[in-house]
Amino acid sequence: MSPLCESYLTAEQLNQMEPFYPLHVYVCERCFLVQVQEYVSPEEIFTEYAYFSSYSDSWLAHAKAYVDTIVARLNLTAASQVVELGSNDGYLLQYFVAKGIPVLGIEPALNVAEAAVVRGVPRSRSCSAARPRSSSSPRAHRPTCCSAPTCLRRCPT
Ligand SMILES: [Zn+2]
Repeated sequence: MSPLCESYLTAEQLNQMEPFYPLHVYVCERCFLVQVQEYVSPEEIFTEYAYFSSYSDSWLAHAKAYVDTIVARLNLTAASQVVELGSNDGYLLQYFVAKGIPVLGIEPALNVAEAAVVRGVPRSRSCSAARPRSSSSPRAHRPTCCSAPTCLRRCPT
């Protein structure tokens, strides 16, 4: 059992009961995606999300080093497209933007996604924005690089 992550209690809530939820992990046998069951609505979790990835200098240094590595490895250019699922405040995608590589951040938490926009990272609150747009080719607009370090909701298969 676990309380919701990134949820801080107000002074008024300190003498009230705090809800705890089962912490049962599901693993997809096909793609090994790991998920927990959805017990509360996304709005309850992501309306005022407390965690901003850019608070950690060491995490930012890791993100920059990752971008330098993956841009060279995949030969990413201005003709590429990088999509990150769970892009938080743009901590990672900002380094692709600095190299002139188009990005799209998918982030349900509005308050942290607004911080990403300030960094020049376009964002959407829905994964549908990353799906191919109307085209005769299903591969059209497919991202060159897709990063999902944190939260996916369902198996994409
Ligand atoms: Zn799967």
